[in-house]
Amino acid sequence: LTVGVPTETFAGERRVAVTPANVAVLLKKGYAKVLVQRGAGTAADFLDSAYEKAGATLVADAAAIWSQAHIVLKVRGPSLDEVDAIRDHQTIISLLQPAQNKALVEKIASRHATCLAMDMIPRISRAQVFDALSSMANIAGYKAVLEASNVFGRFLTGQVTAAGKIPPCKVLVIGAGVAGLSAIATARRMGAIVRGFDTRPAAREQVQSLGAEFIEVEIDEDGSGAGGYAKEMSKEFIDAEMKLFKEQAKDVDIIITTALIPGKPAPKLLKMDMLDVMKPGSVIVDLAAEAGGNCEATKPGELAVYNDVKVIGYTDLPSRLPTQSSTLYSNNITKFLLSMAPQEQAFGIDLSDEVVRGAIVTLKGDIIPPAPRPAPP
Ligand code: NAD
Repeated sequence: LTVGVPTETFAGERRVAVTPANVAVLLKKGYAKVLVQRGAGTAADFLDSAYEKAGATLVADAAAIWSQAHIVLKVRGPSLDEVDAIRDHQTIISLLQPAQNKALVEKIASRHATCLAMDMIPRISRAQVFDALSSMANIAGYKAVLEASNVFGRFLTGQVTAAGKIPPCKVLVIGAGVAGLSAIATARRMGAIVRGFDTRPAAREQVQSLGAEFIEVEIDEDGSGAGGYAKEMSKEFIDAEMKLFKEQAKDVDIIITTALIPGKPAPKLLKMDMLDVMKPGSVIVDLAAEAGGNCEATKPGELAVYNDVKVIGYTDLPSRLPTQSSTLYSNNITKFLLSMAPQEQAFGIDLSDEVVRGAIVTLKGDIIPPAPRPAPP
C-alpha cells in the first residue's frame, strides 16, 4: 500500500500530518511507499532531507499524491479542490468536523472515497493513543498562556527585587477539559496564581492537583453529559456562573476560556459589562473562538482591543507550535492507521471495531451515520 502526505493547503496552516520518524515506522511495518510532497514539513521544521533519510519518496506536487496513494493522511480535511482530486476508493484520514461540514462530506462521498475523521475517534481508554483532539487541546492550552503573556505588560510570577515587590499575576481558566488543564498547568509553572472553573464536578480534583484553586457556584447541577463530555447547563446555572465571573473579572489579570459543549455553539460567558470592570492591560484568550466564542468581544482569528482589555481569538494555536503539534498529530494518526492494519499491508475497515466505527464518515462512497456516544459512567 502507498501512503501519501500532501502539503496542507489551508491558509496559514503550518502543521504536517506525518513526520519523518513516522515515515520510517510505516515503512518498517511493510507499507510499500510513503509519498511526501516536497516542502510539506518545512513550516514545521521537518525538512525534505529528513524525509528522504527516513525513506520517503518525495514528489513535486499534490497531484502526484492524489493520483498514486491508496491512503492520504492530512491534518485539515480536504479542500473542495482536493476533493476533486480524490480517486475512486481512496482512503483519507484527517480532522474533519463532519457535523459542521456536511457539504464537504457529501462531496467526498460522491468521489466513492472512504474517509475517517480523527476528531470523531471515541474517547475511550484504548483510543487515547489516537486522540488528536486531546493532543491539539493540550498544545492550545499551553500556547494560550504564552500568547497572553506576550501581550500582558507584567511578569506572570511574583518577585521581590531591589527595585520593588512584584505581585504574581492572577489567571482564571474557565473550562477545565484538556486545554483548560494544560493552561492551568502552564500558568502555574510560570508562577501565576491560578483559579479554575468547570461545570463537571470531576474537574475539581484535577484543577486542585495542579496547584490551582477551584471556584464554584452554589447551585448543585452536574454538567457531565454523554461520554464524559459537558452538557448544556440551565439558565439559572449560567446566570450564577456569570455573576461569579463578573466578581472575578475585577480581580484577575488574565482570563482563559475553553468552555465547549459538543455539537452546540460555545456558551457566551464573558459579556461586555464584565470587560468594563477588568483592569487596564488585562488579557482574555478565547479558546472557543472557532465555535462562536465564550466572550462577546472575541473576533475569531484576531487580537481585538476593548477598553484596554486585549481579547485574543486566534483559532490556529496548535499551528503556532507547528513542530510539537505535527509530532503529536503524526503519532496519533500513524498509530490509528496501524491499528487498522494489524498485519503488514492488511489495511481494512472493520466496522465492528468501536474506534473505527466512531471515526468513519464515508465508506466507499456511503455516508455512515455517526456512532451513538457511550452513556456517562
Ligand atoms: P471540551 O474541549 O469539549 O470542553 C472544555 C471544557 O468546558 C469541558 O471541561 C466542559 O466541562 C467545560 N464547560 C462546558 N460548558 C461550560 C460552562 N458553561 N462553564 C464552564 N465550563 C464549561 O473538553 P475536553 O477537553 O474535550 O474534555 C471533555 C471531557 O472528555 C472531560 O471529561 C475529559 O476528561 C474527557 N476526555 C476523555 C479522554 C479519554 O478518556 N480518552 C480524552 C480527552 C478528554
